[in-house]
Amino acid sequence: MKTSMLGVSAAFPSEGDACSGYLVHSEDTKILLDCGSGIMSRLPRFSSYDDVEAVLISHLHADHYLDVHILRYALAYSQHKKTPFKKVPLLMPPGDYARLANEASAERNKLDDVFQPASMSEKSKIRLGSFELSFSLMNHPLQSFAMKVSGRLGKTMVYSGDTGWTESLIEFAKDADLFLCEATLQEKDKERAFDAGHLTATQAGEIASRAKVKKLVLTHIWPEYEKHQSLLEASETFSGFIELAEVGGTVEV
Ligand SMILES: [Zn+2]
Repeated sequence: MKTSMLGVSAAFPSEGDACSGYLVHSEDTKILLDCGSGIMSRLPRFSSYDDVEAVLISHLHADHYLDVHILRYALAYSQHKKTPFKKVPLLMPPGDYARLANEASAERNKLDDVFQPASMSEKSKIRLGSFELSFSLMNHPLQSFAMKVSGRLGKTMVYSGDTGWTESLIEFAKDADLFLCEATLQEKDKERAFDAGHLTATQAGEIASRAKVKKLVLTHIWPEYEKHQSLLEASETFSGFIELAEVGGTVEV
C-alpha cells in the first residue's frame, strides 16, 4: 500500500506545496483522502482523474476540500473522459454534502453529475476495491473524522485528519503500519492546542508511541514553522521511525 503526498500544508500552502490531499493506492485501487486547495496540480503525476475510485473528505474546512470543485470540472469536462462514465463515490461527514452541493449550485453546477455522495460514520465499514475503510470522530471545531485504510496483505494506514488531543486516536491508530498524523503546532503552542483543535508534534509523537505504530509521518505542519523543529519535538515522545510528509513523496508500507 502506497500513500502519495499531494499536499501537506496546514491552512495555506508554503511555496510549491498544496493543502491536504493524500492518494492511497495499491495495484488495483486508488482513493483520495482529502482534496484540499492545490492538490489537483499534483494528482496527474500519480493518477488520471477518473482512475480515482473514491474521494473521502475528513471535514469541511476549506484547506481539506476546496479542490473537490476542481476535480468536478476535470471529471465533467475532461476531453479524455472514459465512457461509460462511472460516478465517483464522495464520502463525507454526515450532512456535509448538502453544504458542498450548495456551493456548486451557486455557480449552476451539480456535484451529482459526477459524484455519488455517501456519509461516513464511526459505524461504517466500507470496502473500496482492495481496501477496507473505517472512521473515528476526532476533536475539532467541525465534525472531523480520522480514517483507517486496511489493505489485502493486512497492512494498515491511519490518517488523523485534523484533531486536537483525543484518546480515541490512540485506540484508532493501534498498531498501524503507517500513521499519517497532523502536527500543526509546536511546543510553544501547547497551551492553546486543545482549544485550537490541533496537535503539537510532541502530542503526535505521544499518540504514535501509545498506539505502538510502526511508522509516524508528520503532516499538516503550520506552513510558517520550521519543520525540523517539529521532527525534533516528535522524536522526544516517539522513539520509532518518524519522517516529515514531503509533498510529491510516496510512503510505502
Ligand atoms: Zn480543520
